[in-house]
Amino acid sequence: MRCKQLIAELCAYLDQEGPQAWADFEAHLAACRKCRQLVETCRQTILLYRSEPPPPLPAAIHSRLMTAVRRARPGK
Ligand SMILES: [Zn+2]
Repeated sequence: MRCKQLIAELCAYLDQEGPQAWADFEAHLAACRKCRQLVETCRQTILLYRSEPPPPLPAAIHSRLMTAVRRARPGK
């Protein structure tokens, strides 16, 4: 297996999708530090996305929204 092939199958590997055997994939990982780092980074990113709640509204957008709301309802 080559790096390019590993990258193409990275998502499927991280989701452990399909009936595919991952022996080749893991053999390449064991031999290739670059791909190992790539897999690790992707895995961390996915974990982060799964564990974090959606980010709050950015402050700038929030204040613009509040200004628009106040303009639309004068006197309140
Ligand atoms: Zn590689």
